[in-house]
Amino acid sequence: MLCLRQAYAMYGIMEQDIGVLPGVGPAIAGRLHKLGVACVGDVLFHLPKDYVDDRISIPLRDLQEGVEARTSGQVLNVDASGYGRRKQAVITVGDEDGAILQLRFFHSPFLLRDARLALGRKLSIRGKLEWWHGQAQMLHPEWLPEEAFTAGWRPVYASLAGLGSARIGKLIAAALNLLGSSAKSPFDDILAPRPSLAQALKRLHQADDDGPCGELMRQSFERLQLEELLTYLHLMRRMRKQAQIDAEIWRDASLSDAFLAALPYPLTDAQVIVWNEIREDMARGQRMHRLLQGDVGSGKTWVAALAMLMAVQHGAQAALMAPTSVLAAQHAQTINAMFAPLGKSVALLTGNMKVGERRALLAGLADGSINMVVGTHALISDDVIYKKLRLAIVDEQHRFGVRQRWALTERGEAVHLLAMTATPIPRSMALALYGDMDLSLMRGMPPGRKPVDTRLIGSRSKLADGMRRMLDEGGRIYWIVPRIDEDEDGVSVEQRVEALKKRFADAGVLALHGRMKAADKEQVLSAFADGTCRLLVSTTVVEVGVNVPQARLIVIEEADRYGLAQLHQLRGRVGRDAAQAYCVLLPSSDASTNALVRLRHLAACHDGLELAELDLQLRGAGDAVGARQSGDMGFRLLDVSRDAALIRHWHAHLPDVEPTDAMLHFWRPMAESVD
Ligand code: ADP
Ligand code: MG
Repeated sequence: MLCLRQAYAMYGIMEQDIGVLPGVGPAIAGRLHKLGVACVGDVLFHLPKDYVDDRISIPLRDLQEGVEARTSGQVLNVDASGYGRRKQAVITVGDEDGAILQLRFFHSPFLLRDARLALGRKLSIRGKLEWWHGQAQMLHPEWLPEEAFTAGWRPVYASLAGLGSARIGKLIAAALNLLGSSAKSPFDDILAPRPSLAQALKRLHQADDDGPCGELMRQSFERLQLEELLTYLHLMRRMRKQAQIDAEIWRDASLSDAFLAALPYPLTDAQVIVWNEIREDMARGQRMHRLLQGDVGSGKTWVAALAMLMAVQHGAQAALMAPTSVLAAQHAQTINAMFAPLGKSVALLTGNMKVGERRALLAGLADGSINMVVGTHALISDDVIYKKLRLAIVDEQHRFGVRQRWALTERGEAVHLLAMTATPIPRSMALALYGDMDLSLMRGMPPGRKPVDTRLIGSRSKLADGMRRMLDEGGRIYWIVPRIDEDEDGVSVEQRVEALKKRFADAGVLALHGRMKAADKEQVLSAFADGTCRLLVSTTVVEVGVNVPQARLIVIEEADRYGLAQLHQLRGRVGRDAAQAYCVLLPSSDASTNALVRLRHLAACHDGLELAELDLQLRGAGDAVGARQSGDMGFRLLDVSRDAALIRHWHAHLPDVEPTDAMLHFWRPMAESVD
């Protein structure tokens, strides 16, 4: 009992709103919430992207030009130089050897009055030395009074909602403080002698003398991964038990057949096979519990629509849940267009509806007058009551949290579950991750599609010519940037929009990212769909299922930052009709050889499953903590390719300790593409 209460304490604290952290006011809290950083635990799991070696301080005279380093010196002089906008604060420091260094700060007149810079004070300084008119100087170095500096490895965080690494470090220190030393996870005991969850978090945020490659760091990271993995595997075990429930027998497929007759083209062979598997499931008298892995663009939506009609035919309700409001709206629109001849329609439920509309819709679901609904996770909010929900379809299931993923099936009795994903994984992996589900695999595209011509290029001027031609021919272009905000190593969405607007003034360049309001996102996407906007600068929010067939070129900046599965998904946004489509991969300037090899594989291969297998071969354990990449499969910390051995082992040896509800709730993907 004690153990359980303490476990609750750990997740209880982690689940508190970020607003409890000192320094987080309503404005910052709002911005973080939009990125999916909602609670203290989300802040704690924002792990360092890198660690800086701050163990030694180099004497001034030994500093090397152009190399960032830590040094120290005594303030000899504080002065202003320059005039007007170019006015600078110049702090001159020196040491016993007589070496002298100038620290220059633009736009920082307040420094001239800073007591910490009084003559004679000793400073600890970190920056890059350069020579200017024979004088050693640093521009905007980091500095602090020497007595406030502690040597060691220092974490560096990716910026979040405009907060830089230092600010985030402070939030995390406050969050660690809240955890205290008694917070426990129920898995701590069975995983001993590994570090506890709290210890592992502390270690990863504070590093130690061995640095990011040290054994303790590796163990700590693995401990966090195990927390996620065991929670997930337990949920899967629970679902397996629930799967063996009796269900109504559904045999009459006349509505689905009428739909097929109305489709402008026949189903592909792969679609036919999967549809038959689903029909058999529904006629078996037992709950369906099936995962449909269908490659990007293979036509999963119609399979879902067919299943929904089957439920309606038998007087039941069906719900289709999608990870973003944009995708849900798009599903409702395309499905309704095809359902019209049958006199059927689906309702749309998202989080941003008018109160009156929402009330009417909920009433319809409760009294059964609405029998098909498409929506976001709004479909599983507490106030949504279904009269007779018997079919739950979850699109892009890996985008949902562990708890959310199957929550729809709890909204009725013996609810059939069809989960869909566009990232097929090798069978051995699928068995470990989804072993309890029946698996359907849908490969290949509808006929007439050409593979997306994928190129790795360095020359941006050639790219500009190609874009010009594409726009002149009436094509539309996605331009993918890796982050919303600017940070030390890259541009922001806004900066990219401004640059492209100058070059392609006629293209109606717009921006799309996860921090926009749902209504604004929809507006931007519909402008892109109707051609008012023909060049869309976006973060990976477009990755999830968006369908604009006129888009024929996708440019992916810093492509080496993503896994092959995610790149394949992004590439799947183009090539959605018969015209030749292109994907241009722009690697970042510091891309490793290994990363470039992976990108070449993407250029050569167009099959999602084959790419997943390649990823499994190409990536192994051994990268330093901090240099990892995740998120492809909807895990926060697990990387399905890299951590394959870990996943298989624990799937085979799952200990009997159950995760709490709070844990199921907490473990969800931290992708900015979920709204
Ligand atoms: P995904 O599996 O990625 O969800 P979609 O269901 O969005 O794929 O389908 C991709 C495109 O293929 C859509 O434009 C859809 O209309 C079209 N499509 C689906 N099935 C067929 C088919 N059998 N023949 C031709 N086109 C199809
Ligand atoms: Mg889809």
